[in-house]
Amino acid sequence: MSDNMSYLGVKRCGCAVAVVFDNPEHAKDVRETVAEFMQDGLTIERVSRDVAVDRLSRDCSHREESRP
Ligand SMILES: [Zn+2]
Repeated sequence: MSDNMSYLGVKRCGCAVAVVFDNPEHAKDVRETVAEFMQDGLTIERVSRDVAVDRLSRDCSHREESRP
């Protein structure tokens, strides 16, 4: 079991592009970062740290950038 949880910021294509590691000692900072992810249009997923690192290591090839 791992208590090392994190919040992933996931794009519409399903690729993770951002992460913040949950840290109870800095819960406010974590919440603010998660809020920023959401403002960027990302979906938040709460996953273990290991999963987060694995998902982030994969490059997004979908090229779904927002247009100006
Ligand atoms: Zn992608």
